[in-house]
Amino acid sequence: MQLPAFRNEPLTDFSKPEQQQAFAKALATIEQGLGRTWPSWIGGEEVVAKETFDNHDPGEVSRRIGRYQKLTADDGKRAVEAAHAAFPAWAERPMAQRTEIFFATARKLRERKHLFSAMLVFEVGKSWAEADADTAEAIDFLDYYAGLAVRLAQPQPVTPVPGERNQMLYIPLGVGVVIPPWNFPLAICVGMTAAALVTGNTVVLKPASQSPAIAGMFVELLYECGLPRPVLNFVTGPGSVLGAALVQHKLTRFISFTGSRDTGLWIFEQASKTQPGQIWLKRLVAEMGGKDSILIDQECNLDAAVDAVVASAFGYQGQKCSACSRAIVHQQVYDEFLKRLLPKVQALKQGHPKDRGNAIGPVVDASSKNKTLEYIDIGRKEGRLLTGGGVAPGNGYYVQPTVIADVPPKARISQEEIFGPVLAVIKVQDFAQGLEVANNTEYGLTGSVYTTNDQHKELAKQRFHVGNFYINRKCTGALVGGHPFGGFNMSGTDSKAGGPDYLLQFVQAKTVSEKVG
Ligand code: NAD
Repeated sequence: MQLPAFRNEPLTDFSKPEQQQAFAKALATIEQGLGRTWPSWIGGEEVVAKETFDNHDPGEVSRRIGRYQKLTADDGKRAVEAAHAAFPAWAERPMAQRTEIFFATARKLRERKHLFSAMLVFEVGKSWAEADADTAEAIDFLDYYAGLAVRLAQPQPVTPVPGERNQMLYIPLGVGVVIPPWNFPLAICVGMTAAALVTGNTVVLKPASQSPAIAGMFVELLYECGLPRPVLNFVTGPGSVLGAALVQHKLTRFISFTGSRDTGLWIFEQASKTQPGQIWLKRLVAEMGGKDSILIDQECNLDAAVDAVVASAFGYQGQKCSACSRAIVHQQVYDEFLKRLLPKVQALKQGHPKDRGNAIGPVVDASSKNKTLEYIDIGRKEGRLLTGGGVAPGNGYYVQPTVIADVPPKARISQEEIFGPVLAVIKVQDFAQGLEVANNTEYGLTGSVYTTNDQHKELAKQRFHVGNFYINRKCTGALVGGHPFGGFNMSGTDSKAGGPDYLLQFVQAKTVSEKVG
């Protein structure tokens, strides 16, 4: 099968009036359809539960996004069993038939990209540009993993043995439980689900309760593009009850999780417990939190560094696992850095993200808002509040972009993931101390240095211990294919999503040796 070379989906140029109009139209279409009651799907059938739950626009809490089925642990068990029943037929499908469904889904998603992005604006408070990037990444994952799967199905290299015909084949694992977070509720949900399915596994997908509508739109798209419904089971409900039942089921063969450190650790522990009747070791792909830094050297392009810090710290309100939550700055440029940073942060326009001019929207829910404000209070005591520090106007969960300077390297706001628009600025004596501080948390996801000193670049390349390390570039915005993504230490299993090895986590290798002659 001849494949076109993979190319990243281009981002939309919203400075063009025709794109502005197209996006405004998509926002209006999505807004009109909000409030829908979504079913779950188990074994190809729609499931309606006794209880439901709602979610609301975090930027305008009077706007209901949707109503969802609040499934129980028993429903979760049924979903795993349905996926198990659907597994043999799906696993036996020729790879070319499976991949065509995902290529087709990528094409359809490209056609309807503004509609999906518009849902992200309302459901999780993304700005136009952030929503557009999330959808572009989702398209990329579909194309990229379908292309990789084609390669995985080709003969694998084995050393010839005289008198034998030997092969190594990659075969699917079984039922995968896919548990994505709400912060990239399309891209990460699509990536984890597509990787598991295209390799021949069946899936139970449980989206985060803050973002089930966008996940439902994706599931409907896959069904429309020919995915047999029993192959992908879509269940909604509380992670602590429903998610736990999925993780613990004896027929669950693997879990693909992206979310917080604490949930990841809990799942890690649960996955390691064999249930009565379980005949395998569950596999776990877990991508977790971050506490990411940009280290700014004495010799650097300071304006570029400031711009990178602003974009990485406050893009999507700091709610990215890769967000820059610490700027570690050389003492020689520290004061100048703060002087140039402040006006740029204060110029960020905040408000409902459906207005294109608003770069900063709300955080995702009340608990995120409260948590961020609590950390700001801690930060006021640990450092010097420079800007922000409170709520912003609007009928939603708006927290001002906040900068706290003079933060000691071991302070809580320097160590714990906040996941909101809060930047800690730390002063260091020299580059070597900067690297030590950069490595002083339990996480190891992304990081960046700004320096023009080649020796320092080399040193940082060796010592800055993160899964995604950047030089003279912001620490967010990894591209599928170009920046395989995943972290070290408590940031997870370093699965490298969007990288050439990613699919190996969803298959097992079978060696077949035949005596000949
Ligand atoms: P979360 O851990 O609260 O939830 C993630 C998912 O786990 C949700 O679907 C939730 O319903 C489910 N869940 C919760 N408890 C569960 C349980 N006991 N059993 C099974 N499932 C359960 O995380 P979140 O708030 O949705 O996402 C934010 C976190 O995700 C941040 O820590 C962020 O850094 C991390 N993240 C990491 C990456 C990465 O690639 N490393 C990417 C995006 C987000």
